[in-house]
Amino acid sequence: MRTPVQDYLREVTDSLVGIHDGEVADYIPALATADPDVLALALTTITGRTYSVGDADREFSLQSISKPFAYAVALLDHGFEAVDRVVGVEPSGEAFDELSLEKGSHRPRNPMINAGALAVHSLLDPDNGGRVERLLDVFSALAGRPLRVDAEVHVSEMATADRNLALAHMLRSYGLVTADVHDVVDGYVQQCAVMVTARDVAVMGATLAGGGVQPVTGERVLPARVARQTLSVMLAAGMYNGAGSWITGVGIPAKSGVSGGLLGALPGQAGVCVFSPRLDAHGSSVRGVLAFQRLSSDLGLHLMDAERLGETVLRERREDGDEVVYALQGVVEFTGAEHLLHELAQEEGWTCVVLDLTHVDRVTRVGRRMVLEGLRRLRLDGRRVAVVDAGRVLPDADPGDGEVVEDRAQL
Ligand code: GLN
Repeated sequence: MRTPVQDYLREVTDSLVGIHDGEVADYIPALATADPDVLALALTTITGRTYSVGDADREFSLQSISKPFAYAVALLDHGFEAVDRVVGVEPSGEAFDELSLEKGSHRPRNPMINAGALAVHSLLDPDNGGRVERLLDVFSALAGRPLRVDAEVHVSEMATADRNLALAHMLRSYGLVTADVHDVVDGYVQQCAVMVTARDVAVMGATLAGGGVQPVTGERVLPARVARQTLSVMLAAGMYNGAGSWITGVGIPAKSGVSGGLLGALPGQAGVCVFSPRLDAHGSSVRGVLAFQRLSSDLGLHLMDAERLGETVLRERREDGDEVVYALQGVVEFTGAEHLLHELAQEEGWTCVVLDLTHVDRVTRVGRRMVLEGLRRLRLDGRRVAVVDAGRVLPDADPGDGEVVEDRAQL
């Protein structure tokens, strides 16, 4: 059988080829010559499978899609506090090349706008090969192949970099950039000139979506906390002055770049990249935005599409002699554990409560604490408690007072 996922993605791109709205970015001469009709779509699951259609192996420069990844490198190398001192996490509601500084601290509002990205870039360690080398190392690990800076794109943007130089000078005047302004802008422009394919960007996004583990190589490239922070800032500010309508309409953490790439990363599910150079007024790919609107609604990818999780955790309640058995299933997280504890609290008259975890895939940290506390209280009430857990999804089932929950076999 051929998987329908590929055919579906093809259908999405087919519906976009007739759309020629928007303009190719021309303020960077090397981008002005891009073929405006190129279209690529790639999707990588957090299990590491990539589906792609169109020109998914054609290279383009990352541009602003580099910003979330550079932010992640700064968090990784310098810690949250140091990064927090130079850049905020608030949506600016303004264009990507506005200064958008917070009152008082003068920090750029977020790392997705140029001012914030310049402050982040300047934080990186200039020694040990330099800032750009460090970024290339991590970007390559994220993509799973060695990436490079395109000299033509770099030189071309430096020739017209007055605005970024001005932004960096302002930041230096406020003490937020302490390094040499020219070095910082040159390094940032190289960061934007790293060449990728739609497939690379989808894999990089899937790494964020999977909590920092590169799904193809299996390497943990970023700590989970850094991946979460990066996705959060993408959601709040990745689409600049279009952030609010993006969150409501599409609901996927995303980042656009002026070369026409659009990255989306859906936590726990997938990374997606659309590449098509014609841009809307915000500087985002016109076809990219349309593709994401469609994917979000067709595939149910909107983050705020609430799932009713809690009740599904209870597979079955059965009575057996003097036992009442609760069989659970799936993932036991906060609402699942809450549901179980609520049900257990209603039980009267049973001397023995059995928790059957045979069909449970995983118990989250919070789920575990809650279930164990429930078992402990049942025992305090004088009940006997047993856990059936051959797969050891609830290891060290110590209810908190030193008593070890019996194995089913010993009951
Ligand atoms: N290199 C570009 C700039 O600084 C990146 C902007 C973007 O992609 N939105 O202007």
